[in-house]
Amino acid sequence: MPANKPKYYLTTPIYYTNGLPHIGHTYSTIVCDTIRRYKRMRGYDVVMTTGTDEHGVNVERAAKKAGVSETEFVAKMAAEWRALWDDLGIQGDEFIRTTDLKHAHTVQWLFRLCRENGYVYKGHYTGQYCIYDNAFVSDAKPGDNCPDCGRPTETLTEENYFFKLTAFQKPLLDLYRKNPNFIQPETRRNEIISFVEGGLKDLSITRTTIRWGIPVPGEEPHVFYVWFDALTAYLSAVGGPEYERRGYWPADVHLVGKDIIRFHTVYWPAFLMAAMLPLPRQVWAHGWFLMDSTKMSKSKGNVVHPRPIVDVVGMDALRYFLLREIVFGQDGSFSYDALVTRYNSDLANGLGNLASRTAAMIEKNFSGKIPNPDSFQPQDEALAKQVQSAIGEALEHFDKFAFSRALELIWSLIALADKYLAAEQPWALGTSDADAQRRAAILWTAAEALRVVTVLAHPVLPESTEKVWTLLGQAGHVSSQDLDGLRWGRLEPGILIGKSQTLFPRIEKAEAIERMEAMENEPQKPAAAPAPAAPTGAAAAPQAAPEKIGIEDFAKVEMRVGQIRTAERIVGADKLLKLTVDIGTEIRQICAGIAQYYEPETLIGRKVAVVVNLAPRKLRGVESNGMLIAASVGPEGRPVLAGFHEDVEIGSRLK
Ligand SMILES: [Zn+2]
Repeated sequence: MPANKPKYYLTTPIYYTNGLPHIGHTYSTIVCDTIRRYKRMRGYDVVMTTGTDEHGVNVERAAKKAGVSETEFVAKMAAEWRALWDDLGIQGDEFIRTTDLKHAHTVQWLFRLCRENGYVYKGHYTGQYCIYDNAFVSDAKPGDNCPDCGRPTETLTEENYFFKLTAFQKPLLDLYRKNPNFIQPETRRNEIISFVEGGLKDLSITRTTIRWGIPVPGEEPHVFYVWFDALTAYLSAVGGPEYERRGYWPADVHLVGKDIIRFHTVYWPAFLMAAMLPLPRQVWAHGWFLMDSTKMSKSKGNVVHPRPIVDVVGMDALRYFLLREIVFGQDGSFSYDALVTRYNSDLANGLGNLASRTAAMIEKNFSGKIPNPDSFQPQDEALAKQVQSAIGEALEHFDKFAFSRALELIWSLIALADKYLAAEQPWALGTSDADAQRRAAILWTAAEALRVVTVLAHPVLPESTEKVWTLLGQAGHVSSQDLDGLRWGRLEPGILIGKSQTLFPRIEKAEAIERMEAMENEPQKPAAAPAPAAPTGAAAAPQAAPEKIGIEDFAKVEMRVGQIRTAERIVGADKLLKLTVDIGTEIRQICAGIAQYYEPETLIGRKVAVVVNLAPRKLRGVESNGMLIAASVGPEGRPVLAGFHEDVEIGSRLK
């Protein structure tokens, strides 16, 4: 990459490792990932940091409860967070753990700078303390009980280091005034200004009652308290004391939830000012997720996790929904119902349909090559003009992080292209030369609209836009397209397009919701666990010969002849087919891991061997009541269904 690319640095919150990521964390990370992809397409050299905040009393307690050391506990948690972001394709560029050595050095260095500049002093902190939990209870008064264990708290005084936050009231207010964009959105900015105007108190930044933390050099048993430790991770990730060498600090944007904005816009800039280090350019706070209009939280038990959603509708659909449905910066509601509605209307019927019908018509009429238009009519030019003028507008929305408006605009282009095709009816044209030429102009115009939409939508829909890109026969990756060079009219005729495929199969709402809810209610599996094994006998890897069994063991397995009545693919489960199988006495729903080897329609009517007395189970949220028998062939274990050469009666027992 050229050395003169401007640098852009953005961060997600450094997530606390007392639980696993839910949809709120996923949202923050998806937003950052979208900005990251967008900025890359605008020519920036981008670094995105995410990570885990691993210190503090809650981790000490959780590790104790799990019967492992703190180190072991946080290593496992950090691995699960990383694995989830990896799976979802939103890992970012730097993953910082607050237990990393380089982070400890950065915190200690920042402390030394603040102290040398006269902003740190030793004092005493007095508060209500729970001797059972070994922790101060914040905001408690003498006589209050501990909110965790319910036992009485005691008033305790400990020696702490304090940070002179009071010295920064005026510098902070100056900062907010001179940089009106430092805090976004506006409502949060006003809140913070009135908080700071209301007066600040010095901040205790070390503890002697906590063991699990970064030691204050030469001052043991003092360890750093939460915010002085966690916020500094943004700087540790891009070089710490050596930040100038890497060149990414100061951050262009810290993306946070609104509940932690005060720490990011008051404490953090004050620490940096005290150390005379450059300040981040912007802190952007997004809203909360509401489920049935209450805040999603672990204690309310209404938390939604990303995996079940991604398994059923796919990651791109989740990204699209969150960015389209929620106005960035405001609270937003989450519901499975709205998610599936958006999926069907905007993705299956919208982008997916435009892509597949355009490709199918080019395949049919032009041997799969982008047609060569030789003249355009006013309606073609009108569409061209609308698409061209939307490009600049969409980029403006992205620049302001107005994702919802950007997507609304991009999807209005899809609607225009649909309307255009409906009006021009390329399928109704005849075989004359004039008709063929007209058809070429229409299909080129539709394909060009699709190309522009694909580039614009890429930051939000990274996977599916790459598929459309390939479908349009375009070279390279859509991710490496230059958004600043995006213009109408660059689609080259004569290029061979890819095979038409369904990007977003329509899904049945009730069934999809039921599956997501079922998976949400299954115990959350560790992120690193392997995917569930395919559910036919075919999935079993060849094994050493097992011990011999008696006939009575074999008799326990009831196998019968079944006939497949229906077969369909399951959205979000590439390997599974959902079958209904007549076993003589009843019709069963059975899932089989054969989707990569059998086309569903070829299976209908086929007689197969079925284990009928297997306990029902759910696979990817779909109930499976029985199992098909198949041979496992070749190194990759290709399933070959067991069947019958002679006619056999449905329901006959196999012995
Ligand atoms: Zn307690």
